Amino acid sequence: MSRARILVIEDNPDNMTLISDVLVSLQYEVLQAVDGEQGLQMAEEFRPDLILMDLSLPRLDGWSATRLLKSNPELRAIPVIALTAHAMVGDRERALEAGCDDYISKPINLRELAAKLNRFKIGRVSCREREERWVLTEHV
Ligand code: MN
Repeated sequence: MSRARILVIEDNPDNMTLISDVLVSLQYEVLQAVDGEQGLQMAEEFRPDLILMDLSLPRLDGWSATRLLKSNPELRAIPVIALTAHAMVGDRERALEAGCDDYISKPINLRELAAKLNRFKIGRVSCREREERWVLTEHV
């Protein structure tokens, strides 16, 4: 079975670990980038099925990285979910304006993350299958 591939672009190591662990438990294949430039390079090279995009990033911020992705005909179809800081008023609006398809507030609610990913219907593992795995792994 081929797994859906998710690129996580996040410069905070704790967030990166948390998100990656959840994605792996949900049977996604995870790619990691620690700044906007590396994220763009990896998107081009590995063509992920979806991108989780932190906004405050070194080298190239998440808004600019998303604009560049969405202006590239070969990459624009990849859904981008912004990871927005809860306290930052206007972050979400600016994220959608930059071309993000959706957003998740930090601190990240893991169940919300799983639900949002299901909504994009990426990969070949069924939503039901993922939910069952999620319930199974949630209490570990
Ligand atoms: Mn950040």
